[in-house]
Amino acid sequence: AKPKEAKQFAVIGLGRFGTSIAKTLYQMGYDVLAIDTSEERVNEVADFVTHALQADAKDEDVLKKVGIRNFDTVIVAIGSDIQANILVTVILKDMGIKHVVAKAQNDLHGKVLTKVGADQVVYPERDMGVRVAHALATSTVMDYLELSPHHSLVEIRTPERFIGQALGQADLRARYGITVIAVRKGDDVIASPGADTTFDAGDIIVAVGSNEDLNRFEGESR
Ligand code: ADP
Repeated sequence: AKPKEAKQFAVIGLGRFGTSIAKTLYQMGYDVLAIDTSEERVNEVADFVTHALQADAKDEDVLKKVGIRNFDTVIVAIGSDIQANILVTVILKDMGIKHVVAKAQNDLHGKVLTKVGADQVVYPERDMGVRVAHALATSTVMDYLELSPHHSLVEIRTPERFIGQALGQADLRARYGITVIAVRKGDDVIASPGADTTFDAGDIIVAVGSNEDLNRFEGESR
């Protein structure tokens, strides 16, 4: 079933990142146009998107012909060819695409993308690196999501010392300054848990806080 607001997405560059975005959006029920210069890449995703097209996205005429202007969001997922990535972003903004999302290789590249009009800049490798690092450094951390440069959301396995304690007793807010927004017990989720919610072995704590406070909590939970 298509989501209510049938948004249309175009993904340019079908490396691992672009392919993953294109397939996922299509699975979610959206219309997805996938473009790559490589015929092989195009063939690989053709069965998993609405349309797949072999073309050089630097060619404005091609973009016009496929009616790129009708797309709500265009994702520039060209990777190593930074020049092409920037050029395509400029062309898309020039053509009046409302929402252009561009993948950056590094901070400087990201700055340039913002300057030329990209509406959203993403750093998939960097972000995934941060998440994996947290998961590796503290075996208790299962997932990690940056909310801002200073705040994050973590999923953390209940540390031994809190098992059997109620949330009110553990008092993570006073002790660490972090806020527990949910507790996962197997397939059950207790959203906005009360002070009487008890931590059992294997429970997953979903918490929000400053990176500093979360790191301290993670560190002491190793
Ligand atoms: P990843 O790191 O996500 O795997 P890559 O750099 O390997 O990214 O892949 C980027 C893709 O973008 C490649 O498949 C490449 O063929 C494609 N690409 C590069 N330049 C263009 C362009 N001008 N137009 C369309 N696709 C392009």
